Amino acid sequence: MAVIAAPTATPADFDSLLRQDPEVAEIVLGESARQGEGLQLIAAENFVSPAVLAALGSPLVNKYAEGYPGARHHGGCEWVDEAERLAVRRAAALFGAEHANVQPHSGSSAVLAAYAALLEPGDTVLAMGLSAGGHLTHGSPANLSGRWFDFVGYGVDGQTGLIDYDRVRALAREHRPRAVVCGSISYPRHPDYALFREIADEVDAYLIVDASHPMGLIAGGAAPNPVPYADVVCATTHKVLRGPRGGMILCHSALAERVDRAVFPFTQGGAQMHTIAAKAVAFGEAATPAFTTYAHQVVANARVLAAGLEAEGFGVLTGGTDTHLIGADPTPLGRDGRAARAHLAAAGLVLDTCALPHGGARGIRLGTAAVTTQGMGEQEMARIAALFALALRDEGEQSRRVRTEVRELAGRFPPYRG
Ligand SMILES: *Cc1c(COP(=O)(O)O)cnc(C)c1O
Repeated sequence: MAVIAAPTATPADFDSLLRQDPEVAEIVLGESARQGEGLQLIAAENFVSPAVLAALGSPLVNKYAEGYPGARHHGGCEWVDEAERLAVRRAAALFGAEHANVQPHSGSSAVLAAYAALLEPGDTVLAMGLSAGGHLTHGSPANLSGRWFDFVGYGVDGQTGLIDYDRVRALAREHRPRAVVCGSISYPRHPDYALFREIADEVDAYLIVDASHPMGLIAGGAAPNPVPYADVVCATTHKVLRGPRGGMILCHSALAERVDRAVFPFTQGGAQMHTIAAKAVAFGEAATPAFTTYAHQVVANARVLAAGLEAEGFGVLTGGTDTHLIGADPTPLGRDGRAARAHLAAAGLVLDTCALPHGGARGIRLGTAAVTTQGMGEQEMARIAALFALALRDEGEQSRRVRTEVRELAGRFPPYRG
C-alpha cells in the first residue's frame, strides 16, 4: 500500500540551496537520510506527501496576511484568502464542524487560543494530569496554562490504565471547573466523549477536546469524532493527520467569533499562508478513500505491534490499543524506559519515553503513523516487535544484527523516492 506516490521529497530548487549554502544543505540531506534509514516510531510523527512539501516550500511564505479572508490588514491577499477559505471549507467538511480556524501555528497555540476564547485568568480547569498523559498545555507549571489557570488533574486507573470517569465526575463536582479538557499525549484508547459531555454539562462547564493525536484517525473514520460533543476541538495537523506542522480549532458557529479573535489578534500575528495552503492539501488528502484505508491500517498495525510486544514480555498499557499509540513497560526485559529508548535508538528504532500509570520507572511510547505511511503492514509490525526484544535483550553482536535488519526493512519502504 504505497500511499505516497510522487517521486521526491526535496524541492525542485534544492540544487540552489546546495550551491549557495552547502552547510545547511548537508544538514537537510543528513536529516532526510536519518528519517529513511531507521524506523520512525515517535507517536507524534509522520511523513507528509510531496504535495504538502511543495505547498510549504511555495512563495506563499512571502505573504503577510494578518486578519481573516476578506478582512485583512494587508493588501494583495486575494490569492492567500482563497487558500485559507479552501482550508477552512475542507476542514469543516472533513470533521463535520460548523466553523474551523486553521491559523494556529501549532497544537499548543490552538489549545492556548481555546482557553483565551472561553476562560478568564484564574478560572478552574479540569484536565488529565501531566503524569497520567496530559500535555504541557493542560496545566504544567512550566507552561502559561499552569500559571494563568487553576488546573485540577484527573488520572487513569493504576491497574487498568483507563480513564477513571467516576473520579473525573467527582473532581468536577468538587471543583466546579469552567472547562473540562479531554485529550492526552499517550492515551491509547478512545475517550468516551459523550460521558465527558455529560460530566461537563452537570457542572455547567465547557468541554474542550484536544484531539491532537487522534485527529487523523478521526478524519479517516478510524476513531470516534468529538465534534458533536465538544464546545471546541483543538488539534495539531502534523500527527496522524499527516499535514504540515501546525494547529487548528473547530467549534460551533456561536463560538466562531470568540475563537477567531482569540487566535488573531489575541495570541498570534500574521497567519502562515504557506502552511495554511499545505493544511488545505492535507485536508484534501485526508478526505480520500486512500486515507480511510490508511487510518484503519494505522490502527491494525498498532494492534499487531502491541500484541507482539506483549508476547515478547513487555507490559502493554491498557492491555493494547484502539489507536496508533502504544504505551509499553520494558522493565520485564531488564531496562527502564530511558535505557530502552537509548538502546532502541542505537538500533535505529526511534521512539519516546512516557510516564507509567503506577508511577516509578518510565515506559516507552510509540506509534504506527509514520511506518504505515511508508507502506508497512501487519507482517512488518510483528517483525518489529521481535526486533525490539532482540535489541533490548542483548548487547554487542546481536544489536549490530538488529541495526542491519532495521536498515534493510526501512530501505524496503522508503518514505520518499529519489
Ligand atoms: C502534540 C500535542 C500538542 C501540542 O502540539 P505542538 O504542535 O507540539 O504545540 C498539544 N496537545 C496534545 C494532546 C498533543 O498531543
